[in-house]
Amino acid sequence: MARDPRHDVLFEPLKIGPKTLKNRFFQSAHCMGAGSEKPAFQARFRAMKAEGGWGAVSTEYCSVSPDSDDFDRVSARLWDDDDVQSLACMAEAMHAHDVLAAVELWHGGAFAKSLESREPQLAPSQMASIAGVYGTGTKTMDLDDINRVIANYRDAARRAVEAGFDIVTVHITHAASLPHMFLMPIFNRRDDQYGGSFENRARFGREVLEAVREAAGDQCAISARFGLDTLDSPQGLGDGGIRIDGDGGRFIEHVDDLVDMWDFTVGSYDWGEDAAPSRTHPENHEWPWVSKARDHTDKPVMTVGRFTNPDTMAALISGGRADIIGAARPSIADPFLPKKIEEGRLDDIRECIGCNMCISRWEVGGPQIACTQNATSGEEFRRGWHPERFERAANADKDVLVVGAGPAGMECAIVLGKREMNRVHLVDASAELGGHMKWVPKLPGLGEWARVVNYRQVQIDKLRNVDFIPKTRLDYRSVLDYGAEIVIVATGASWFTDDAGYATVGPIDGADAELPHVLTPDQVMAEGKDVPGDRVFIYDCDGYFVGASVAEHLARQGKQVTYITPFDGAAPYTEFTLEAPRLRRQLGSLGVSVLSEYVLTQVSPDDVVGTELASGESVTWESDALVVVSERRTNDALYHELKADPAALEKAGIEAVYRIGDCVAPRVPADAIFDGHRLAREIDTDNPAVPLPFKRERAPVVELEMVLSPGAMSA
Ligand code: ADP
Ligand code: SF4
Repeated sequence: MARDPRHDVLFEPLKIGPKTLKNRFFQSAHCMGAGSEKPAFQARFRAMKAEGGWGAVSTEYCSVSPDSDDFDRVSARLWDDDDVQSLACMAEAMHAHDVLAAVELWHGGAFAKSLESREPQLAPSQMASIAGVYGTGTKTMDLDDINRVIANYRDAARRAVEAGFDIVTVHITHAASLPHMFLMPIFNRRDDQYGGSFENRARFGREVLEAVREAAGDQCAISARFGLDTLDSPQGLGDGGIRIDGDGGRFIEHVDDLVDMWDFTVGSYDWGEDAAPSRTHPENHEWPWVSKARDHTDKPVMTVGRFTNPDTMAALISGGRADIIGAARPSIADPFLPKKIEEGRLDDIRECIGCNMCISRWEVGGPQIACTQNATSGEEFRRGWHPERFERAANADKDVLVVGAGPAGMECAIVLGKREMNRVHLVDASAELGGHMKWVPKLPGLGEWARVVNYRQVQIDKLRNVDFIPKTRLDYRSVLDYGAEIVIVATGASWFTDDAGYATVGPIDGADAELPHVLTPDQVMAEGKDVPGDRVFIYDCDGYFVGASVAEHLARQGKQVTYITPFDGAAPYTEFTLEAPRLRRQLGSLGVSVLSEYVLTQVSPDDVVGTELASGESVTWESDALVVVSERRTNDALYHELKADPAALEKAGIEAVYRIGDCVAPRVPADAIFDGHRLAREIDTDNPAVPLPFKRERAPVVELEMVLSPGAMSA
């Protein structure tokens, strides 16, 4: 298929300092759990984007010195020559695809945890740590510190050149790096040449950029990732931060001579205003601020905003106020986004749903990336998975029956189809594809999550060897009679209907969702069970999005909602997905009462009884209905029936029975989808039920000599 001429503008080259960007797609810096410690993962993960058509691909934030270590969150590092070697691998991989390699230099100051180095956290002025390291304050940087840190940037930029990077970006955003902090009165209360007037507050950032330009400017393009507006309070820093109409715009002009391109963002260390979830922010949500940048610079401008729609992207470039489309999450969900636009294959784009599961893996510290939409994300090196390439299975002559068309079943059927299995029948009791993902997008703000089903619907329609069979509930007998040689059970999980499970520290007396006044999320959202009365309690022992979203859903219907939970706040996992701040404010503005650190012990048609965890006191509230968001149980009866009768399976010609997704263990959609994908990728191994071991990158084997000479490295 040919490219739509309206999108031609996205493929025009652009000069950035001494380099040329071959098109307008730039994978902006984002974390994924490799840093400098896992060079093969780093290189292979980024190379997938390079192959997928991105004109430039960046590392994640890259620390310039040990007093900016963010362990256990994973950053890249350019502290020494070993780091150069490690990241050189990634840069080389970009060049193999004729793509520019970018690195983002970062000194986090009060935002960097410094737990590994044990050095004091640095800040323009003394303040409490903003890194979530409680009981810790920062050191006010003296002039020696300032000069040393600027030298760290210079050395890191020199190492970036050695490693082969084409673009050196300086992180000046999110109130999470020193140049940004120095600029803001809320962090900078100095009375020397680095504090007070705008010029003084901007001095540190300018000197950092000068040092980076001096070290790398001849060979690399210099980019500034600048948070040009730290937004209104409460989501931003209000008057204590910077605004595009004030110091933000002024800073752009002040250092414009030192940069070759601008990479703009908004927000502060509550960075959900930048890496914004779809729950609260639409595509291109930063434009009201970024669009004003052109008034301050003629240099190339990059903007971000969860771009997946090529029409939006092309309109921005054609409009002349932005030159480059930056993307992190859209490139994670679909590393081949630019190529698919170029080839006019728009219906094959696997659009990011804005759930921020990817970000949550970084926020929790340590583990590698996971993406809801792209099961291969993070698996490029260690499992050798390619998002667009599938090998014909060694047992491709077999017919496969997949029972259950939820996220796991759909994904599994697609991958089996792409692996050229003879016939794949995806059978569901329901009339439509999607499983629980049919109702999740009906929760307030989660409309974009429908892309999980929409993308897969398109793929299933295209695969000639995959058929969706709706409105067919299969039992043990009908599976035996079906005629498939491989059976995969993907029957999902359902919310507890009788008690609230382990998390409640015992059952709730009277909790039975057969009763009119007790409901599960499935009943409220999928089955349309009436929620009686006005006073509704939501009891959330799950902690992710369902409880708080159902509370919001019912509050929007005019119910008087009380959200009660044993956790210390509403929907704690959404802190990691960056949804929590706005979600919690939203609950407040809808009049939802949030009662944290309570367990429920009893429910009747007229009231609920709970215990306050701190005091142990029992409290009774009047209530007309209770929605119990407790735990899910696997719907695994069919699987166990089949597995229990090998003789019947053999007689029916069924060679193997597997299960996937929530039917194995209830989990987040990203993991259910991953599980379905994994089984299909390995359907022809000796034992597909057990994942093949994945490759690990480890520190080099230690020589005894090294053990015998411990201690600091010589300078
Ligand atoms: P997952 O997240 O693991 O994909 P879901 O709960 O979203 O699981 O989806 C499970 C799907 O399986 C639902 O659409 C449900 O209708 C379907 N299902 C469950 N049991 C059967 C069955 N016996 N026959 C056909 N479909 C079934
Ligand atoms: Fe997008 Fe969610 Fe994937 Fe992140 S995890 S890239 S937000 S779909």
